Amino acid sequence: MAVIQSFGAAEVVTGSCHLLQIEKGPNIMVDCGMFQGVVENRNFEPFGFDPREVDILLVTHAHLDHVGRIPKLVKEGFNGRIVTLRSTMDLAEVVLLDSAHLMEEEYRTRFRKAQRRGAEASVREPLYSVDDVKAVYDLTIEYVEYGQEVKLGKDITAIFRNAGHILDAATIELNFKEKGEAKRFVFSGDLGNHNDMVMHDPVFVKEADVLYIESTYGDRNHKGIKESEEEFKKVITNTLLNEGNVLIPSFAIERTQEIMCLLKQMYDRKELPECKIFIDSPMAIRATRLYDTYHEELSQCCNDFLKRDGSVFEFPYIHYTLKPDESKQINEIGSGCIIIAGSGMCTGGRILHHFKHRLWNEKNALLFVGYQAEGTLGRRIIDGERHIHIYHEEVVVRANIHTINGFSAHADQNDLIDWMEHFERLGKVFLIHGEFEKQKVFKKAIEERMDKKAHIVAPEEKVYV
Ligand code: ZN
Repeated sequence: MAVIQSFGAAEVVTGSCHLLQIEKGPNIMVDCGMFQGVVENRNFEPFGFDPREVDILLVTHAHLDHVGRIPKLVKEGFNGRIVTLRSTMDLAEVVLLDSAHLMEEEYRTRFRKAQRRGAEASVREPLYSVDDVKAVYDLTIEYVEYGQEVKLGKDITAIFRNAGHILDAATIELNFKEKGEAKRFVFSGDLGNHNDMVMHDPVFVKEADVLYIESTYGDRNHKGIKESEEEFKKVITNTLLNEGNVLIPSFAIERTQEIMCLLKQMYDRKELPECKIFIDSPMAIRATRLYDTYHEELSQCCNDFLKRDGSVFEFPYIHYTLKPDESKQINEIGSGCIIIAGSGMCTGGRILHHFKHRLWNEKNALLFVGYQAEGTLGRRIIDGERHIHIYHEEVVVRANIHTINGFSAHADQNDLIDWMEHFERLGKVFLIHGEFEKQKVFKKAIEERMDKKAHIVAPEEKVYV
């Protein structure tokens, strides 16, 4: 009998890590992500399994909560095959190197401060270093394409399907035989939103004996995307016409590219006043280049842009500011700027120096296009904080604050249920990758709307199938 255990993303959103052990077969892991936010200390705890005994690692997509513990897995002895799409590993390299740099920098600062107190022994080493990230890429990585059947062992195959979430995100089907009986496990991965400007809709899967499905937004439905796009365009136009600037804190992957596409569409339709758009985040610039390179799997809209302009995202108003000096020069420009910078929740990164230079001015706008977790500077501003501290200086928030909630890289409850209803044969349903309270709402919705039982997977619970 096969057994699955979740060593992350069980009753929480982050830390995705699921181990499938097939009797007399290989041990197959799906994702090895980082815990984030209030549960981040769990990254430093032991995995709960022996990394040396994992034979194959399948990766659904390059978000940190799905790849962030791979360097630790390798450091602790994993020496098997990694199977995924090429673009996922390229994007994961950008994500992991960025995270390693940040952790090393933070470690050095803390160490210096502790040294002055004579307490350097108390400073915890980073989870992994840049060298640990490089070691991941020394392993055997097997690249697959969507729809291709890849052999994982005797009578075991995997197929990756487009999950429509971020560049080349996948739903993974695992087919194997146990005592002569054919079985199919499906891991949804993170499923995308419908009608996204950049991504395709998620591909439907027909059959599953066991489905592990994400439940990030299983408790709610998003505000309509079209409505959100209109709201976005209005803020941009009004602010620019009023000689102001727009600051957009944005996640480097997916949201930035979506915003760029929207602005390009406005430019095409002559709805965008003349302006300078700064993509002021090295990580977002690198991710955008990868989106451009691997454009085949992007939406029709993106491919139409590419065919016409030779590039998905380029248009005359776009400026990439890779170097810190170029970023600082933006401060010299009085008006007519749209500045897209990280970090997405304003916890660090270049967005902070733009806050310092622009938030005090009531002509400017601060436009939130992504989720702001509790405790972050972004959330505090949304909640009404009007005096913030940036680089030891107090800044008054007089800029207009706008929050647009309709952009999401995740399916909502209706999308998730619609995706499940497209199965012609669906066996047992297990919920992962969601906050427990939200999962309970989702479980009830599945029971009521589909007349189907669903089980919320507990951390490290052994699920026999
Ligand atoms: Zn994701």
